[in-house]
Amino acid sequence: MKRVYNFSAGPAVLPEEVLKEAADEMLDYNGTGMSVMEMSHRSQSFQEIIDTAEADIRELMNIPDNYKVLFLQGGASQQFAMIPMNLMKNRVADYIITGQWAKKAAAEAEKYGKVNRIASSADKTFSYIPDCSDLPVSEDADYVYICENNTIYGTKYKTLPNTKGKTLIADVSSCFLSEPVDVSKYGVIYGGVQKNIGPAGVVIVIIREDLITEDVLPGTPTMLTYKTQADAKSLYNTPPAYGIYICGKVFKWLKKQGGLAAMKERNEKKAKILYDYLDQSKLFKGTVVKEDRSLMNVPFVTGDEELDAKFVKEAKAAGLENLKGHRTVGGMRASIYNAMPIEGVEALVAFMKKFEEENL
Ligand code: PMP
Repeated sequence: MKRVYNFSAGPAVLPEEVLKEAADEMLDYNGTGMSVMEMSHRSQSFQEIIDTAEADIRELMNIPDNYKVLFLQGGASQQFAMIPMNLMKNRVADYIITGQWAKKAAAEAEKYGKVNRIASSADKTFSYIPDCSDLPVSEDADYVYICENNTIYGTKYKTLPNTKGKTLIADVSSCFLSEPVDVSKYGVIYGGVQKNIGPAGVVIVIIREDLITEDVLPGTPTMLTYKTQADAKSLYNTPPAYGIYICGKVFKWLKKQGGLAAMKERNEKKAKILYDYLDQSKLFKGTVVKEDRSLMNVPFVTGDEELDAKFVKEAKAAGLENLKGHRTVGGMRASIYNAMPIEGVEALVAFMKKFEEENL
């Protein structure tokens, strides 16, 4: 067996320890004589799995008591609709457009009400985060929406926007649990787990209790009403049980690593190795303004499409997988989520140096 260094943007690398544990428990989870995949979601064993997962993410993120944690399905994209359906009471919302995912969320919300795009970085191919200190926040906006880490373009908000008192909603799919956050600054934090936390199929929604009401837009399906899910503690119907179980294992792993402050330190160290190299390279160039660089997704280019393709191909042959940039931007992208070991980033930089020597 040979594991590669997997730089995929998602689904992405998971901690080896977690995968091994899951493998060990595949045939017989904790003396039950069955795998978690085969287990009733109403069983005591599964109840313990989901309760422990919730308690652990609450501890990791220091989630205040007046927030619910929901384990849902439909990926992050389902939330693009669920958010307006549940929260757009005045049928007005403000969106900050920093890439494809914010754009898609805004387009979806537009089906339900008026969307004001109050800032955008589209003018420079989303290579920066707009100044959000004094935006024209709409007086009647139900919320202000951001995508906090832009997976495709490699940008991240270093300070949250000044929402002038409006509820902040954030898609954190690609920076979930990568550093400490102050949950109380948000109305909703949500993300698909398939980048930093677990297998695709689970989306975690952390939502302030006062936003969970029966007063949703007419026609909102039962399943897509936060209240249904909150009242049933994420067990209204059969949940993505195996995915939740793996998320729970990753939470335990994160606690063992020292929690989110330790992860931030580690992620900064990892990203610095790559950014420092990019900043002095004569062949490769990072595509994002320095202040707004993501610790998780690092896009870079040579400026020559053929050379980019050669790099991706040779890197793959060297055991460095999934370095091709998103189909909408080209070039390369290294996603270096929590579970990417520092050795993976070192191996990537060593390979880039060699490639630079050979191709400059
Ligand atoms: N938001 C962000 C920031 C993403 O990176 C992605 C997926 N790459 C999505 C939303 C969409 O996620 P899903 O495929 O789970 O719907």
